[in-house]
Amino acid sequence: MPYLIMGIDDMDAEDGGCTTYVMYSFIKYLVNDGLVNDVIGLPRLTRLNPYVPFKTRGNASLSIILRVDSEDAARDYVELMQVIADQMVRRTGKTSPGIAYIVVDDLEKMPDRLTWFYGKSVRDVVNMDLAQRVSEKVGAKLIGGRGTIGALASIGFVPRDATYEFIAYRNEDSERPTIDAQDVTTWDTATKPFTFLNIDGTHVLIEPHGPDPVLFGVRGDSPYHVISMGNYLANKYGAIGWIVYLTNQGTDEHRTHSGRYIPYRNVDVIGIIVSVSFDEYGHAHIKLGNGMRAIAYRHLGISKELSNCVGCLVDIWGGVKPGEENTIYVEGIRVLHDREIEITNPRCPRCGGPMESLGRVGILRCKRCGFKDKLPRVISARNRWFLINPRESEYRHLMKPIERVGLEGLALYIPKPLLWVY
Ligand SMILES: [Zn+2]
Repeated sequence: MPYLIMGIDDMDAEDGGCTTYVMYSFIKYLVNDGLVNDVIGLPRLTRLNPYVPFKTRGNASLSIILRVDSEDAARDYVELMQVIADQMVRRTGKTSPGIAYIVVDDLEKMPDRLTWFYGKSVRDVVNMDLAQRVSEKVGAKLIGGRGTIGALASIGFVPRDATYEFIAYRNEDSERPTIDAQDVTTWDTATKPFTFLNIDGTHVLIEPHGPDPVLFGVRGDSPYHVISMGNYLANKYGAIGWIVYLTNQGTDEHRTHSGRYIPYRNVDVIGIIVSVSFDEYGHAHIKLGNGMRAIAYRHLGISKELSNCVGCLVDIWGGVKPGEENTIYVEGIRVLHDREIEITNPRCPRCGGPMESLGRVGILRCKRCGFKDKLPRVISARNRWFLINPRESEYRHLMKPIERVGLEGLALYIPKPLLWVY
């Protein structure tokens, strides 16, 4: 039996509206028509390269996989999506909605070129021309404007790591309610580590700002945990409906691990920090021994750790913005070799007990047996490696939160919840 994979993108408008809400509305039609069981897995929310020069708000595209009887049935679903999009999307400003779809017989055999296109859209810059060539090669169809690029990328999403997001929607005619930090803290504690980036101190992170129809979004590695937390908050704050998406958020999927500075990409650079200086805004300008440069914004909250790191061997990653001198905008730093050394007293050569200094240069005495001698101190490199991460509120969609380290891939083994849209 064939499958329809359909993607959408760029249905956000400046004055509200949101591509995830278009997908939600499409699925609500399926629910009302008794067709929701034809949805394979969960609908997918895919974030694309945050460093591209032209992008939609949040750079989100969406896709869904549906079991269909025939190509005709597939076309009916595509038409339904077109009708919904036409009704909902206010074509203002730069909004240029697009739909992409493909019908395949075997979900295990996705065309390589399509998965490649997804990877390139997350890590690099793609254009309309490339999207058209790829879609012709693999037999996918594109309908609409610039949004077809992200829509095509989303249908090529074959997750190796994934997370979930519970998105609750609100009535746009009424005032946005303020979500109480105490509620979020309680649920954050109860669902850890299977939800992440809920709150930073008392700053609630699950709530978007601006006019869009999203009331809040709870992200996590387990659909059951995001549903427990999300459902409670959805009831309390008067959501009009909710849905759970499978996403590439928080997976570091945008990292290329490439050591070359290529504009608009996320790259890694390894070197010794030779200087850290701060400009008038408090942003840290980092110079490495190999001549490469990086900038860490003050908001990341890592200035203090950075200034303690001159002399450390580090791996720095972030986005490259083109300019006179290519510079990395830091997302994270791993200290590979700490510059710090520790000086400790040796153990007693007679009994192995701890030794203390007598104050006079080099004279040490054993606390256990009283042995006294002039002995050299032990100098050891701490040689620990550690991560310098931004504060929670500074994480962007694709960046992997430290709480997720070790949970990679878990999401793909958890069965689909029975109730995932309301
Ligand atoms: Zn001793």
